[in-house]
Amino acid sequence: MSLGAMDIFKFLPAGKRDTNANCKKCGCPTCMMFAIKLSKGQDAPSKCPFLPDELIEKLEHNKKVQQKVVTLGHLKVGGETVLYRHEKTFVNPCVFAVELDSQSPDYKQKLKRILEFQFECIGKKYHIDAVYFKNPIDDAVSLLKDKGIEIINDDFLAKLYKVEYTNLQQTVSQLIKIRTCAIVDRNEEFSNPTFIKLCGSDFCSLCAIASSLVCKYANMIIFEEFSEALFASLITLRLNIYTDPQKPLQVESKVYEFNNPDENALVFLTTNFALSYFAVANELSSLKCGSYLVITPSDGMSVLTAWSAQKITAEIASKVVSASNILDKVKNKIIIIPGLLADLKDELQQALPSWRIIVGTAEAYKIPEFVKKMQNA
Ligand code: SF4
Repeated sequence: MSLGAMDIFKFLPAGKRDTNANCKKCGCPTCMMFAIKLSKGQDAPSKCPFLPDELIEKLEHNKKVQQKVVTLGHLKVGGETVLYRHEKTFVNPCVFAVELDSQSPDYKQKLKRILEFQFECIGKKYHIDAVYFKNPIDDAVSLLKDKGIEIINDDFLAKLYKVEYTNLQQTVSQLIKIRTCAIVDRNEEFSNPTFIKLCGSDFCSLCAIASSLVCKYANMIIFEEFSEALFASLITLRLNIYTDPQKPLQVESKVYEFNNPDENALVFLTTNFALSYFAVANELSSLKCGSYLVITPSDGMSVLTAWSAQKITAEIASKVVSASNILDKVKNKIIIIPGLLADLKDELQQALPSWRIIVGTAEAYKIPEFVKKMQNA
C-alpha cells in the first residue's frame, strides 16, 4: 500500500516533536508540507537531513510496482494498487473473455452469438471484452475487432500469472495470496495480473464461481463456453465493483426529452444521480405520451440524500426549470416531482408560480400507473 502523508509525517521531526521540527532546510515551511510532497513523489527524501533509515527504506519499498498493467488493444489488465475498493478505487475491471476455435463444429454459431451479444446498463452498451481465438480466421478477427472485442493469443497470456482452477476455496485463497503479495508486499514475483480459465457449461455454477473470482481477485477470466445470461450477470456485478467510490455516478443536469414531446407533454423532475435518472427515463420511454425530464445538479446524489444535504432545494430546482425553455413548450404547466420530495412542494410552488407542482410517486416503476390515473382524472 502507498505511504500517505500522515504515515510519513510520523517519522519526521515535527511528527516526533523533535527539536529540529519545521526547520525549513528541505525548502518547505513545515514538516507536514514536506510529508505531503513526499507522499505525492514531488520531492526528494534527501532534502531532509533528519530522515530516519526506517522511513528511507519504506520510501524505497514504496517505489516498487505493485501490479503491472498489461495492455490488450484498448483493454488494460491489472494495475491495481489497493486490496479493498473503499481504500481508493479499483482501476481496471476484470476482463471477460471466451474461447473460440475455428476448427470446432459449433464455431460459426458461437461466433455469431458472441458478435450479437450486447448488454445495456445505465445508458452504456457492453459486450464480451476479448476472445481467445484458436486457429484464428482473418475475417472473423476483423468482425470481432470492429465490435471492440480484442483477440487474445498465447503471447499475451504469457505476460499474465496463470492460476489453475481447482476448487473455489483453494482458488480464491490463492488469488488473495497473490494479490496481497503484489499490493502489500510489493513482491515482484507476483506483480503480473492473474488469469483463470473456467471450463464447462453449467452456467449457474460458473456464474457463482466467476462472481467470487471477480470479487477476489482475478484480473481476467477466460470461459470455455459462451452464455449471454452468464456474461450479462457478470458484467452487472463488475459494474458494481469497478465504479469509483469517490465519484458518484451522475448524468448531465439539463432537460431530457422522451417520445417527441409536444405541447401536451408531461414534465418530470429528479436529481442527476445516474440510477435515479435511468430508472425514471426507462419509465418515461415506455409511456405512450411524450414527456420532459428536468435533471437538477445534485452532485450525483439520490433524491432523499440530495434533499437531506440541501443539494436539491426549491431555489436549485427553479433555476434549472427557469433556465430551460419548457415553460413555452407545454400547455398544462405541470411539474411532477418525486414522491420523496413532497416536503419541497410548497416551497417549489412559490419559487415557480407559473407552474403547478404535483407530487408524483416515490418509486419510478409506479410512474406509468400514476400517469394513467392523472390522464383519466
Ligand atoms: S528539513 Fe523539512 S522535513 Fe526535515 S525537519 Fe526540517 S522542515 Fe521538517
